[in-house]
Formats: sequence, structure tokens, C-alpha cells
Amino acid sequence: MTRWTDERIPLWVPPVDGEALDSWIEAYARRLAVSGGEFVRFIGLTTADPRFMVRRLTGTEHDALARSTGLTPEALAAMTLDRFDGVIVAIAPEDRTMGRPPAWRHYGSRSRFCPACLADGHGRWQLSWRLPWSFACTRHNLLLRDYCPPCGNPPPVSTPVRAAPSAPGLCLHATGIGLSVRCGHPLAESPTPALPSDGMVIAAQISVTRDILNASVEQEALARSQELYALARRALRGIRHLASLPTAVADILAECGGELPGRAENDEGSDAHSTAVGTALAIIATDRDHPTCEEVFGWLQTTDRPRKTQSDYATKKIAEWLPAGRRVVTRMLTDADSELTLPSRLRYGTATSTPAWPDLSDNDVRRRASKLPSMIWPSWTYRLLPFDSGARPAGVRRACASMTLLTGATLGYRQAASLLGNTSPKSNRQDLDTALASGGTELLAAALPALARALDGHSVPIDYSRRRSLFTPDTVVFDEDAYQAVCSRHGWRVRTPARVKRLRWLLARLLLGADPGAASRTPARQLALHYELHPDLRRLLHEQASVNLKAHDIDEPMLWEPPPDWFADLRLPAGPETIDRSQLAQLASGGPSPADLARQLGLDTAHLHLAVETLGITAPKPARPRPSIPSTQRIPRENVLAPQRLRQLYLEQRLPQWRIAELAGCSSSTVRHAVNEAGITRRRRRPAGFLEDIVSRTWLETEYRDKGRSSPDIARELGVGKNSVMRLVNKWGIPHHPVSEFTNPFASLDTGLSPAMQAVSRTKNCVQRLRHLLQLPGHRNLQAAAVALNTQWNTLNYQLKRIEETAGFTIIERSRPLTATDQGKVFLAEAEALLNHLA
Ligand SMILES: [Zn+2]
Ligand SMILES: [Zn+2]
Repeated sequence: MTRWTDERIPLWVPPVDGEALDSWIEAYARRLAVSGGEFVRFIGLTTADPRFMVRRLTGTEHDALARSTGLTPEALAAMTLDRFDGVIVAIAPEDRTMGRPPAWRHYGSRSRFCPACLADGHGRWQLSWRLPWSFACTRHNLLLRDYCPPCGNPPPVSTPVRAAPSAPGLCLHATGIGLSVRCGHPLAESPTPALPSDGMVIAAQISVTRDILNASVEQEALARSQELYALARRALRGIRHLASLPTAVADILAECGGELPGRAENDEGSDAHSTAVGTALAIIATDRDHPTCEEVFGWLQTTDRPRKTQSDYATKKIAEWLPAGRRVVTRMLTDADSELTLPSRLRYGTATSTPAWPDLSDNDVRRRASKLPSMIWPSWTYRLLPFDSGARPAGVRRACASMTLLTGATLGYRQAASLLGNTSPKSNRQDLDTALASGGTELLAAALPALARALDGHSVPIDYSRRRSLFTPDTVVFDEDAYQAVCSRHGWRVRTPARVKRLRWLLARLLLGADPGAASRTPARQLALHYELHPDLRRLLHEQASVNLKAHDIDEPMLWEPPPDWFADLRLPAGPETIDRSQLAQLASGGPSPADLARQLGLDTAHLHLAVETLGITAPKPARPRPSIPSTQRIPRENVLAPQRLRQLYLEQRLPQWRIAELAGCSSSTVRHAVNEAGITRRRRRPAGFLEDIVSRTWLETEYRDKGRSSPDIARELGVGKNSVMRLVNKWGIPHHPVSEFTNPFASLDTGLSPAMQAVSRTKNCVQRLRHLLQLPGHRNLQAAAVALNTQWNTLNYQLKRIEETAGFTIIERSRPLTATDQGKVFLAEAEALLNHLA
């Protein structure tokens, strides 16, 4: 109370402890023998209504009350519902109407009452009676009442302007026409159940008063309020609709005087009685120390509405429990773990100690994706992949990476995969299922969510999304000169485009931390190349990778893996770090096959490759010295290459070297060596342009374009190299033969060809193939023929098959020995004649 002033009413009516503002105004008015409405007019508030003032005071109302009564601002504020706004009640900011509160349909615009309190306190009303969470009087151990028994209405607290002054404790509900006809029932005499002081309802009210009504942190009060409300609503539904009830339900109903009240028309079971029963049960269900906690919680779960489909039942069921808040949902998720599919278990983290409903935004998920390679790191795969599962590790790694995005997120597995560029999610999933067929699901269900949360909680030095957008085998910069330098340093002759392509692939893989592309299998050749990679080539790839990063101004480490201390709580199987690095290096130095090395280390080959990749060790094949035959031991040259014959062909007949090579069935370089060995002086090159002098343009056009002869064929006739002929063809702008068709080597012979030979003559390399074919009959089998012809079995087999396919019939019977078929004999005779003509 403030000091006495001229403006103060010369009469002091103090509020009682916990009194509502409108009750105090009414008490003041009664002392002045006026209605509550007249009282507020009297202090200068011409339009004010105590029913609204108890919700929240306007500045004017506040000042007028303080001025007229001397009550302190704190005391005034304590008598309004303002401080409960947003947590327990909802008061509209403009017009102070009461909205639907976060829990229960008791809005706070009317007041419950304790008959005994009204009797003790001379008809003064508590503010807390307006709050939906007040259902019992802990002073008198009585259930609060919502309605006046005879008139059945919530009794008003204050009287309007033109009403007669009220008498304390009488029902002020206007029952008839005119404002002065009132119910007048003495509310203190309303019967209400007496609650046992050590019972569950009183305990529930004490708990709610502590945790919700008097909570200091609004957020906690709201969370607890929603949790209890969601559970209480389910309990009330269960009591009304279910046949079997836990014993706790009967006990609580008995405390409240037996049955639950029938649902009132506009009430939906939000009266004090229903609130008391529902809340008491909700508190038991959330009190892990209570002996019937699990029983009640289990029973509450049976209150779910029956559902039509069973697909992913657990997830939908849990979704319905979301209003109950985080704690309950976590508990439901933990219980549901065994019913969920693997993606759901990962999404909710049900196999971890902290399951949670997904709450990540799209941006959060994208941020996590940027911290993940499209294939999970090799050391992680090493731990998670069961031994000897037979699954393709690349597919498993992709599936694991994609699924790591699911934890806490709402997106589907397919979307997650596409965020990482994994375009075959289904096949990856099958690989994972294969891998998990022999166990390991539990480990994965616990490990991937832990990994996901660790990635969210830490910064990762590599932006994998950026690398995915920058680097492919086609876009990486690979310095071929540096590669050539390494090759010549070691005397390697393999410099084929295919090998460079593979190295580019490995370079992109190094930068991406994953296979480039989206295959479910790492290509075998790439895997083999990586396994055997010479340390110098490995170093080269790392250098090139740095160059690529620098070219994009990326200042990141080349490789990275999540450090083990992020997962101190997670019990992971041993990783590749348990392998003795120096021992592995020593074993690998002999260049053993992956299978051998794996056997020595007690691993399967999948794990061996992962270990090799993690530890940065490779098993290069030891250098094999090329067999060099000393010239003294050389087998003397025979036939065409015998010095005598060679001299004749080369010097007298002036055949070009390639032509001699054809006759000898060897390469031009062999002819060149033989020429040198025989001490033959190499012919002088003919002067450039001499061919133009001996050949006319018309002739060349006829022979090359019109007759379709090949350039070697023409060159043979002219006694020059085929390149000289082609130079002339190009110079005179004569169109080339189509690439798809091979030139007919027999075109110059002017002999008719059988249809089969016609077809064969247009195929690749047919002269040599026919030569081989002629040699086949008489050999024991193709293998023996291959040895005799100094070629490979598969080459010979392929050539034979191609010719037979083209000819359209079987030429050589695959019998022992090889014999020609009847048709084959005719064909071979024709071929022999043609080849003889050519020679
Ligand atoms: Zn009471
Ligand atoms: Zn009444």
C-alpha cells in the first residue's frame, strides 16, 4: 500500500492472498454498497469491466486503481492473469479476449471455486481458479467445482454496473429477465469430493503447481504443460472408450468420488474433475519412479486410433504422439526401435541414446551433405562392413553415406542419395542389404546417426559438395608430361591413353574422396591399378591433386577422416589403424596379389583394399627386367629375313620394308633390325614429290575412289609406302574411304569373289586373318595352332569366329585335329588362290 492521498477512497479493503483482481474489486464495491461495475465508474473508468481487468490491466486502469486504492503496482499485477499469458492462458493483445490456451479448453474467462475457500474467505475468489491447470484445493483437499449446482452455470465473480451490490459467496448468475434476478445459491455449500491428502490427485496438483503454474522458465512450463495435456487427453479417451483399465485409473476415479462426469455440451472434458483424473494419470505415466509408470504408459499407447494400413506403422503412430513433446516422443521412439525399418531407425536415431523427431531444415541437411563424400570414408567402411559379406564395398559405401543424411531429417533416402550424387540408390541399398545379411545392422543403426550428429556439431575441413561440383575425371588437370617423366625415369613403356585415363580417374577419386561417377562397383582395373600403384605414381597423383585444389584457390587438406575422439561414446569395431603399418608395408613390398596379402593379414579382400587405401600403402609389382637375348645367341634369321633373301628383296626388287614385313609375317621394326643385322645399307629416301611425276590424278581417283582399292594396295603396285599414297590423296582432295568399311584388298586382282569372300574382304585386317585361317587345319586344337602361329589362343579364336560370322557358315570344325568343313574347304581354296595372287 502506498501513502494516503486526497484521491484515495477513504476506506481500505486489502486483497487476500492469491486473490483475483475482479474478486477484490467486488469486495471493495460490497464495502461501499455498490456493484463492481459502479465501483470502477466511481474511480473514473467509465468503460472498464472488471471481467477484462482481471486478465490484464491497461495503463489507465492500472493508474486509476493505484490512485484510488493505494495498492502497489506489483500487488495489482499479481492479481491479473497477465503473467500466465502464452504459457497457461492466451490473452489477445488488443481486446483482451481469451483464446484457446495451450492446454485444456478452460480459457480463464470463468473461474472454478473451492466451496471451503469461499466459506473461509468471506466469498473471496482465488486468481488460480481461472487457470486450466487448477483442479484441486490443496488447502482443503477438495476437488474444485466448475459450476453452481442448482443453476448449472459457472458462477460470475463480479456484478455489472446496474446490478445490486453482491453478497459474499452467493451465485451471481443472472437467471431471469433483468439484471437483478440472480441464482443466489450459497456456493460454499456446493458438495464436492474430498480428496485424500496423500492421494494421487493432490500429488498431481502439487506437481503441476510447482512445474507449470510457478515455474520460473516459461519454456519448461510450456513443454511440461503440453506433455501432460497430450497424455491426459489420451487417458480420458481411454477411460471413456477402452474396456480394460489399469488399476491406477480406478484408484484415481475413486479418489474423485467414483465415475468421471459425463461430458458437458461445450466442455469436452476440460472441467476440474476430468483435468484432475487425466493429469494424475499423465503424471504417473511420466514418473519413471512410480511403480505403475510403465503399465499406465503402455495403456496410454493402446488409446491410438485403429488404423487401416500397417505400412511403417511405428512411424505414423509416433507422429500422432508429437504433441506430447520431445520426452514422450523419445520414449516412444526407443520403444519402437525394433519395429522400424533401417532408414527410419537412422532418421529417428532410435538405436542411439538420444532418439529424436526429425527437426533439421533443408539447409541443415545440405550443410551435412557438404561434409560427406558420396562414399563413406574407407576406415569407416572397414569398421561397418561385415567380413566376407560378399557385398560390393562401393555400393555399401554409397548407401551408408546417403543414409547418414537421414538422421534428424525428413527427406527420403532417394533424395538424400541424390544430394550426394549417388544416382543408383536402389542398387546401393541392395548392396547394403547383402552386406547386412550376416549381421551388423545394429552397429550401423547406432553408428551412422552418431556420425551424422558429430558432423553437425563439428566443422569439417573439406567442402565435399564443392569438390563434387568441380572435379570429374574429365575436368581434373593431369600433367601428362610429369607422368611421362616418371615413366622414363623407371624405364616404363606403358604410356597408353587408357592408362592415362585410369590415372585421371584415380586423381578425381583422390579429390572426391569417392569413386567418380555413381557406379555401385569400383571398376576392377581402377582398383587393381590403385592397389599396385608405384609410390612415385602415388606421389605424382597427390601432387597433381594439390595442383587442382590450388587452381581453384581451395585451401583444404587433401584427405580427411572424422577423428576417433568425436565418437568416444560409440563402441566401434577395430579399424584399419590396428594393422601394423610397417608389417603391411613389408608384406606389400613383394607385390603380392590382393588375395594373398589379405590371407596373410587375416582379412577379406574388400577389407584389404579399404586398409590399403586408409593407410596409404600400395603393393607395386617388382620391376621385371626385360629379357634381352645376347646377339651371339640369336636364332639365325630364316626365309624372307635370311640375309641373302633380304638383300635380294630390299636392294634388287626395291620392296619397301613394310612389304617385306608382310611377306615375313612380322613387324616393320623387325625387318629394320634384320636389315641392320645383315649389314645392308639402308636405301636413300626418295625425294619428296617424286610420286606426282609418275602418277596422274585421274588414275589415282579411279584406283582409289572408284575401284575402292586400299592405299597399301596401290602403294604396293607403285613400290612406295602407303603414307606417300595417302599424302597424294590428301593433296589432290580425293575423298577418303568411309571409316566403317574396310577396303577390299583383292580389288586390284580383277577376279570375281564368292559372296562369302566378298563379305569377308570388306572386314578389318582380312588378309592376315585369312592367312591364319589357312594354317588352322591339321593342328591338334586352336591352342596348338596359336603356339605354331606365334599368337594367342583368344586372338585366333576371335578371328576365326569373326570370319565365320561374316561368311555365314562354319569353316573349321572344332574337332581334334581341326578340320575344314565341306563349305570351308571351298572357301579356304578360294582364299589361298587370292593370297597367292596378292603375293
Ligand atoms: Zn479451499
Ligand atoms: Zn447458481
